[in-house]
Amino acid sequence: MRFNLSQWGVRDWALTALALVVLAAVLLAGTRSMAVGTGGDVLGVRFGGDAERTRVVIDLGRSARGSIVESGASGKVVVALAGVGSGRGVDGSGSGLVRDWRVSPSGTASRVELALARTARIERRFLLPPGDGVGHYRYVIDIAATGGPVAGATTRPTSPRPPVRAERPLVVIDAGHGGRDPGAMGAQRSESQVTLAAALALRDELQRTGRYRVQLTRESDVYVDLYRRVRIARQADADLFISLHADAGADPAIRGASVYTLSEQGASRAVREVTRGDNWHRDLHLPGRDPSVDRILLDMTQRATQNRSAQFARVLLTHLEAADQALLRRSHRDAGLAVLLAPDVPAVLLEMGFITNRDDERALGDPAQRRRLVRAVAEGIDRYFREPSAPMQMASMRGGPLSP
Ligand SMILES: [Zn+2]
Repeated sequence: MRFNLSQWGVRDWALTALALVVLAAVLLAGTRSMAVGTGGDVLGVRFGGDAERTRVVIDLGRSARGSIVESGASGKVVVALAGVGSGRGVDGSGSGLVRDWRVSPSGTASRVELALARTARIERRFLLPPGDGVGHYRYVIDIAATGGPVAGATTRPTSPRPPVRAERPLVVIDAGHGGRDPGAMGAQRSESQVTLAAALALRDELQRTGRYRVQLTRESDVYVDLYRRVRIARQADADLFISLHADAGADPAIRGASVYTLSEQGASRAVREVTRGDNWHRDLHLPGRDPSVDRILLDMTQRATQNRSAQFARVLLTHLEAADQALLRRSHRDAGLAVLLAPDVPAVLLEMGFITNRDDERALGDPAQRRRLVRAVAEGIDRYFREPSAPMQMASMRGGPLSP
């Protein structure tokens, strides 16, 4: 979906212009470019920012999926970029928080190692597809200082290393509702009961494969605020967020599962809603200094994430269908649901069926049928992580200086 200009008012434009000027100044002041000759798909590594906050831009000849191996607390940031070749490996000196850097081959991935001058944490990371006047992909890592100097950390000398396996993907499973919010009511059971049972079963199924790390937003019948669910996924740096729900309808004949992703309109509505209060900046844990700059980064990141979410939604539906799960006719629907708001975590909401339908309710309460459902979901997750990122369409946003 395209960025809709008419949704933006004069005030938005003014804010945007201001943010662009601020960001351009910040980026231009600190950007250093590194030419890379023998880095395979790695075209270059650039740095912006200062010794408190540093932006690292890795220019790539192809799309990539990154996963964190080390997050900066030890004085080192290590990110594995799946599917990216790094030739014989390249390295150089950094800028800001990064003392020096090194990109080296690691199995079928590339290992990006940043030796830091101070301990730090990764604030955000995202992939930008070609667009806004740049003809290639960029993987962006924003890091912020958390502590003191790191003694003698360096990624060089460049001795050969054994391939290091990237950390397994983290899937956050969100059991809808709970506690004082039971959700929709069936004849025998509440939505919050069936979502928790399915979340626990899906966790077991995923852990059984040994391929994933799994975290739940709740593991018992407790109330968890919607925004807190989003924060859990973001703080854990989840690779995928799946929220489980059950539908309710006035017509007891209606049944079937459906999958929701956050639509472009839903996203801007959600961002507007969240950014209305004074505390949104803190609530979403966006640690930037300027809320209006953060809001634009949020928008951009969100668009890239939506493509990945839609990709997962399609895969998930295919596998549900293959497992003979009843599906609503128009089953991939867009929603502006707050729980899908995490701007940098691909997220879908799965309505597993109608709790108001007798057959669906029975299936949701039956352990064997539940296992069949979660197995189909787990297969969809497997397939999603095997597939490379689909080429993404960035909505164009005028004002080149923004593009990292
Ligand atoms: Zn629900």
